[in-house]
Amino acid sequence: EKRLGNLEKGSEDSKYPKVKFLMEKDRKRILVTGGAGFVGSHLVDRLMMDGHEVVVMDNFFTGRKRNVEHWLGHENFELLNHDVVEPLYIEVDQIYHLASPASPPHYMYNPIKTIKTNTIGTLNMLGLAKRVNGRFLLASTSEVYGDPEVHPQNEEYWGHVNPIGPRACYDEGKRVAETMSYAYAKQEHVQVRVARIFNTFGPRMHMSDGRVVSNFILQSLQDQPITVFGAGKQTRSFQYVSDLVNGLVMLMNSNISTPVNLGNPEEHSILEFATIIKNLVGCKSDIVHVKEQEDDPQRRRPDITKAMGMGWQPKVSMIEGLNRTIEYFRQELFQSSHNQKM
Ligand code: NAD
Ligand code: UDP
Ligand code: UDP
Repeated sequence: EKRLGNLEKGSEDSKYPKVKFLMEKDRKRILVTGGAGFVGSHLVDRLMMDGHEVVVMDNFFTGRKRNVEHWLGHENFELLNHDVVEPLYIEVDQIYHLASPASPPHYMYNPIKTIKTNTIGTLNMLGLAKRVNGRFLLASTSEVYGDPEVHPQNEEYWGHVNPIGPRACYDEGKRVAETMSYAYAKQEHVQVRVARIFNTFGPRMHMSDGRVVSNFILQSLQDQPITVFGAGKQTRSFQYVSDLVNGLVMLMNSNISTPVNLGNPEEHSILEFATIIKNLVGCKSDIVHVKEQEDDPQRRRPDITKAMGMGWQPKVSMIEGLNRTIEYFRQELFQSSHNQKM
């Protein structure tokens, strides 16, 4: 019940959120890899409520069954415990390929696995798309721009990535995933879409996700020191997860086959961001400076001209999104302190 958040429940006797009825000709069978993760589970909610059949494939490295548990048993829903590094033979119309750890501590935990997931895993999903003649969307990242020398970043920029640094397993993994997508598009005529996703936050981020939004909120809620890495002058631009989900669905169903940035251009320094969260929570935490991260991108803000051209724009302000996310983590802390199921 708690897991549903603000999803509207169906009729009195239905235990599932309400799904739209779609005629068979409009109903698609859609694979979401990484669908039990933070972004993936919100995308699954959207596709399910739109009336599609959704297959979630996840190895539960950073994802959790409880993120999608409100759909378990629904006739349009299927959950596969599968590692994308292994081939998968199923029949689908569309593939949203999100399987990959996304948080720096998670993707650095086992860099070789991160590389395999992004290379072999992406190859498998492109092979699947080719065989079933389906459409493939890659969840790429602003990290392909590395520590950018161009600001804001538009899709024409080739990036500035250290190929042997600690972030390379992820950055270069996603870069070659893009390369493979366009090789399959050119050589095998697979329909590909590439979303370059900028920092996204919201409910269902893992308590131990390790990215800045969940860290700062959890630290604030527990009156612990807020850990700013380095001086905190580095900037990021944060988008709320529902805006990203809208963008992913729009891009998938558009005719834009070149990469598209999806992000909210509202840019803040990390130090400002710490103060904003501290004030929203209204806590007594101190802001402390700890060791800076190696190769940490210094500035990041999306140029979203191209995404706006397909009729998309972020709708949820950072403050509104933060308030919703703070509420989520408040409940999570309450639940875990009452030692209920994790
Ligand atoms: P997440 O860690 O919550 O979700 C990733 C999901 O992929 C998890 O459910 C995990 O268990 C699954 N997964 C990982 N390796 C797998 C494997 N080998 N086989 C099967 N499943 C596997 O992270 P997220 O924030 O939801 O990110 C989702 C996607 O979006 C990722 O591809 C990420 O690179 C991309 N992205 C996210 C952001 C962001 O700010 N959230 C920004 C840029 C790109
Ligand atoms: N693949 C998959 N599911 C499919 C089709 C292919 O997982 O439905 C994998 C397959 O294991 C292969 C990869 O995708 O390793 C690339 O497929 P492709 O057909 O391009 O290459 P090939 O099999 O000819 O090497
Ligand atoms: N960061 C921080 N304290 C934290 C976690 C992150 O100061 O506890 C900084 C990090 O150094 C980076 C920014 O916040 O400059 C965003 O980090 P995150 O890991 O969320 O995502 P990234 O954009 O680096 O992938």
